[in-house]
Amino acid sequence: MLGVGFDNLTREETVNACMKLIEKHASSYMVTPNPEIVMASWDNEALKTAAENADLVISDGIGVVKAAKILGTPLKERLPGIEICEAVIERLSDIGGSVFLLGAKPGVAEKAAENLKKKYPGLVVCGTQDGYFKDSEPIIEAINAAKPDFLMVCLGAPKQELWMYDNASRLDVGLMGGLGGSLDVFAGVTDRAPKIWQRLGLEWLHRCIKEPWRFKRIARLPLFMTKAVETRIKRTFNGHKG
Ligand code: UDP
Repeated sequence: MLGVGFDNLTREETVNACMKLIEKHASSYMVTPNPEIVMASWDNEALKTAAENADLVISDGIGVVKAAKILGTPLKERLPGIEICEAVIERLSDIGGSVFLLGAKPGVAEKAAENLKKKYPGLVVCGTQDGYFKDSEPIIEAINAAKPDFLMVCLGAPKQELWMYDNASRLDVGLMGGLGGSLDVFAGVTDRAPKIWQRLGLEWLHRCIKEPWRFKRIARLPLFMTKAVETRIKRTFNGHKG
């Protein structure tokens, strides 16, 4: 879609795909692009490459789902990264699987670990590390010593996508996911939008109201939608000609 290929899966299919990749234990990675990330990939070749090489690309934002519909290639569902992540954690908890929490401000991953262990007693949290490091080497070493089934990479976009792409071949993990502010939510540092906002597809608006600097980030959203309409018109026109 507009330069980024998405996996067209339901929630259940996505979680099953994650568990298969975890079983394979080949340092696979999942990206969860919203329209901002798709647009950022238009002028960031490295981000585009990172998305293209991902083992799973899921439709995190409502804008992505709407654009897919406009383009005539609808996606089955909106799949918020944090919900897929929690579903994977729940499955891991059932089988005594492990997770390593990487990202967010100092202390946040530890708090998230505490909350996750309370909620999912079978889960093994095999490591935590804040996201404000300069050198990746000692972090890779710590992750590889822990060999997690699942590595949450919460460094914000595009840092997390580039980090996963750059380091996948040196990591000893099952699956990793670029999961933005998920650790902040699990730690209770930030809240997700109330369910009704989520159901109405307005979670982005809620985040912008809470963190007004985000309005700047979504300013290009109308351009994203216009591009989707333009592309659909071009495709229809070319289709009729051909
Ligand atoms: N972050 C980080 N290292 C950085 C920059 C950001 O660990 O160098 C963290 C930040 O503390 C926050 C998360 O990455 O926990 C980004 O959250 P945000 O909600 O902005 O993610 P996005 O909107 O990109 O999904």
